[in-house]
Amino acid sequence: MKIRLAADLQKDSIVDGPGIRTVIWTQGCPHNCFGCHNPSTHDFNGGELIDIDLIKEEIDDLVFQNGITFSGGDPMCQADACYEIAKYATTKGLNIWCYTGYTFEQLLELGKKKKGILDFLSCIDVLVDGKFMMEKRSLDAKYCGSTNQRLIDVKKSLASSKVYLWEDSSSNIISFKRNKHIYV
Ligand code: SF4
Repeated sequence: MKIRLAADLQKDSIVDGPGIRTVIWTQGCPHNCFGCHNPSTHDFNGGELIDIDLIKEEIDDLVFQNGITFSGGDPMCQADACYEIAKYATTKGLNIWCYTGYTFEQLLELGKKKKGILDFLSCIDVLVDGKFMMEKRSLDAKYCGSTNQRLIDVKKSLASSKVYLWEDSSSNIISFKRNKHIYV
């Protein structure tokens, strides 16, 4: 299986979720938000097709990373491939964040027709949802570009019939992946 990426994996990010993270920049986005910072990631024919086995090998080699963040682009447009990568990353002790221009509720609807979306959601710890809205842009919105976007605790929300927001706490950062061992 292949995934279309906009760039190489970006290691050691401290702005795309808590702790030190590796960002996977997916290529292709249908939302066209006014003021988007990554317009070069919109073209579904852009970027480069990469075999996900190569991504898994890169995950094997990660050191001192707390988690993986899927961004883009909209990762939900390649949910099947993202699911395979996310599922593998969780077996390595990495937590999963994902940015999307869809709302959580829209994804649940889309998931009725595209099972890969629900599969991918089931692997995600925190979903940053919704389009970037220039009129709601805020530099104070942690891990978000605009205040309409939510940081959703996906596992808790999927287990109930309501949306639970993620609560920031140091307990969210409990382990580093170092070589092939987990040090807690
Ligand atoms: S969803 Fe993200 S990548 Fe897509 S247009 Fe909006 S801000 Fe840009």
